Amino acid sequence: MYCINCGTQLPDDAGFCLKCGTAQKPGPRFGEPKWETCEIQIEDIKLESNPIRLIPILGDLVAFVFGLRDITRCRYVVRSIGPKGMHTIADTGLVSQREGLENLIARLAQDGWESSGRGEQWYNYKFRRRAS
Ligand SMILES: [Zn+2]
Repeated sequence: MYCINCGTQLPDDAGFCLKCGTAQKPGPRFGEPKWETCEIQIEDIKLESNPIRLIPILGDLVAFVFGLRDITRCRYVVRSIGPKGMHTIADTGLVSQREGLENLIARLAQDGWESSGRGEQWYNYKFRRRAS
């Protein structure tokens, strides 16, 4: 930060200017951008048998021969944290693991969220945007 009187560069938490002694304003500096952040989490995950496997006897064989896998469905939930606290901004319900995640990411981008990295898990996409 800089002294509000003489412009001398000061430590960010300085209460007074080291040069001219003017008291500095507490709290966030004027014009400093505030961000809200969010991260995709999984609330629920469900493995559904491929419908073909419901056919007795032959079903498992057909699924095996044609490589038809069981279907993983995930419930993705996104909570944002910002100056106004925490909000749930998306709850997809159970959706297809891959398409559901792609759709969710596209929707967040549409809402002005920009990517800010990845977390530990494969679904932990992180985003941020300016708080209004
Ligand atoms: Zn000063």
